[in-house]
Formats: sequence, structure tokens, C-alpha cells
Amino acid sequence: SDSHFPIPISPSEVDYSHHYPYFYPDGWNSNVNSNDGTASKIQFADIGCGFGGLLVSLSQLFPDTLMIGMELRDKVSEYVKERILALRMSIPGQYENISVVRTNSMKYLPNYFTKKQLTKMFFLFPDPHFKEKNHRRRVISPHLLDEYAYTLQTGGIIYTITDVEELGDWMRSCLEEHPLFQAVPEHELEADPVVKLLSGATEEGQKVARNEGQTFQAIYRRIELED
Ligand code: SAM
Repeated sequence: SDSHFPIPISPSEVDYSHHYPYFYPDGWNSNVNSNDGTASKIQFADIGCGFGGLLVSLSQLFPDTLMIGMELRDKVSEYVKERILALRMSIPGQYENISVVRTNSMKYLPNYFTKKQLTKMFFLFPDPHFKEKNHRRRVISPHLLDEYAYTLQTGGIIYTITDVEELGDWMRSCLEEHPLFQAVPEHELEADPVVKLLSGATEEGQKVARNEGQTFQAIYRRIELED
């Protein structure tokens, strides 16, 4: 239950120097990348990251961007932590920009991120929660999209993919109906290297691909309301 993992009171409470020692060689409040005295902040969040395959792939694509996985299951988050440490040991200087926290993202996202902090959020193969009465437990919902809109910068992108058609329709319609999100046009998706990772980088995605299953994507941008 929630009582078994620490919950930061606010984003400023989280000491990320433990997560990204390479970026904070002198501890918290110091940062090798900062030109303006402010510490680098996490920009990408992989929600329900599972075994961390997306983070590992993204790490090399954006080596200077800090990113974090959020995972509810203790053993799975511990696995991801060990996986990242092993990668850092085997290839020094790489994989320093990825980390993981064990948390319930549906409850505690604002405890980790400030307003307009993130530039990308990922929801890859989330749990479907088929029954109508369980739809409120889905990780994309009208209410949670308000929170994601708060957390994303203007222009920031939400990437979703699933092999469950009904869930795909649900995620797309929640995003479509939200006033602060707009579908990313096809030509931009084709040019975005991240899109190519959605179906094949994660463990769940690879399972679906092995079974030749169909996938359903919805990729939306955080916009500002027009006057
Ligand atoms: N994204 C990964 C992939 O594509 O391989 C994992 C997909 S798996 C079907 C869904 C994951 O979301 C599980 O690892 C589960 O523990 C996690 N999860 C479910 N609810 C969560 C929540 N509220 N907060 C954080 N993680 C959650």
C-alpha cells in the first residue's frame, strides 16, 4: 500500500542528486549543466514504466535530458534501478540521465513535478481496467488530463499506445475532448524519432509485437487556450 513508500511533500523536497549523481557531482543544488545557476530538471516522465525499456532507449537518444520512470510495483521499480546501475557500470558515462521512483503516479504526480516542468509524458501499454466501474482507475481520464496539462510545458507532448482497442479509443477521446490538448499532425509524428520507439522499446510492446498484435496510438500536444 501507499504507506510503504516515501511521498515527498513537494517537488523541492526530492533530492535528485541520488538519482543523477553525474549531473549533481557536488550534491543537491549543484549542477554541471547549469549556465544560469538553476539545476537541470527532469523533463520526461514514463508513467507506469514497467521494466524500463523505454527509458533505456530514450537515454541514448537524449543524453542531456533528465528523465524518470514512475512505477507502482516495488519489485519492478527495484529491477529498473538495478538495471540502470548495471548499465552505468558497464558503459561509464552513459545512462546517467535516467532513473526511477516507486510511486502511485495517479495520486502523487504534483508531489514530484512543478507546473509546466515536463516536455514529454509517456503512457505505454497501461493497464486496461475493462469494467465500466473501473474506468476511473485508468491512467488517462478527463480529471488526470487536467493534472498532466498542469505538469506539461506548452508544446509538451503526451504519447500513448496500447494493444487494447477499447482503451485506445478511450485515451484518444479523453485527449480529443480536453481543451488543452491537440492531436500532433501526422507529418510531425513521422519526423519524431520518439514515435518509432513507442511500439518496440518496452517489454510490453515487444510482447505485443511478438504476437503480431495491433497497436493504437494517440499523441497529443499541450496547447494554450485561445482568447
Ligand atoms: N510501460 C511498460 C511497458 O510498456 O512495458 C509497462 C506496461 S504494464 C502493462 C503497466 C505498468 O503500470 C505496470 O508495471 C504497473 O505496475 C504500472 N502502474 C499501474 N498503475 C500505476 C500507477 N498508478 N502508478 C505507477 N505505475 C502504475
